[in-house]
Amino acid sequence: MSVDREEMACGSGASSASATLPALEMDGLCKRYRQGTTSVVALQQFSMTVQPGEFVAIMGNSGSGKSTLLNLIAGLTRPDEGTVRIDGEEISAMRDPRLTHFRRCKIGLVFQAFNLIPTLPAIDNVRLPVLAGAPQGPLAAEELLRLVGLQHRSTHRPDALSGGEQQRVAIARALISQPSILLADEPTGSLDSVTGQAICRLLKELPRDTGCTVVVVTHEPEVARWADRVVVLRDGRKLTEFSTDSLQDAGALAARYRDIVSGASQEGDAT
Ligand code: ADP
Ligand code: MG
Repeated sequence: MSVDREEMACGSGASSASATLPALEMDGLCKRYRQGTTSVVALQQFSMTVQPGEFVAIMGNSGSGKSTLLNLIAGLTRPDEGTVRIDGEEISAMRDPRLTHFRRCKIGLVFQAFNLIPTLPAIDNVRLPVLAGAPQGPLAAEELLRLVGLQHRSTHRPDALSGGEQQRVAIARALISQPSILLADEPTGSLDSVTGQAICRLLKELPRDTGCTVVVVTHEPEVARWADRVVVLRDGRKLTEFSTDSLQDAGALAARYRDIVSGASQEGDAT
């Protein structure tokens, strides 16, 4: 298939996102997984809009559909119904290789397990997407390591880095192409709580430092409290969303979350 050159152009990532366009729009997303003769509904009628520079946490218990949602936003999975738009472009309708190219240009991914290449030093792990064909953004790998506080660890291989340092390298790698949106799936799940909080602080500062929008999925109130807004998922459905402005701390957020989820359980029991 031939792809038009202009269609394949990247734009200039985060800074080019129009102020009038949402960074992310999802509308009526549904995803089912087939399991033998039955099917599991992982996500149902999920809609939300995220503005450029926002930091949003999607919170839900294990199995609530968080990773499914993140994979749909990243274009790694296709929805059965509904649409995903990033910077106004509908990725759910894009075919390969355009989708692959769009993902490389516009989306940074961070996982719980860091997913670094063990034989490469930190600096080459950060450069790896570019070596694999992704565009180089305005910040070189050295500058990104400085941004995440690891300029003194650039020659260390992953086994010579702490868990928190490895996650910082993974975040720097996710930023190499100046993505419009950074997606993180349980980014502190393998870290102790002090290190996890430092990673959250770093994620919180990214919109200011790089202009990117941040979406984190987590089951931890200690992570969600750093976000501007929290969206609550349960059994693949969005229950509600709320601003963290008036919440004092993670304890207050945990109490709010418990109320929402247990209220939904009682409604479920009554029907
Ligand atoms: P979370 O990330 O919140 O733990 P997931 O999105 O991983 O939730 O899973 C949501 C639901 O979909 C769960 O019931 C899970 O068992 C199911 N699921 C996820 N991936 C698959 C798959 N590849 N095949 C079948 N079922 C799946
Ligand atoms: Mg998950």
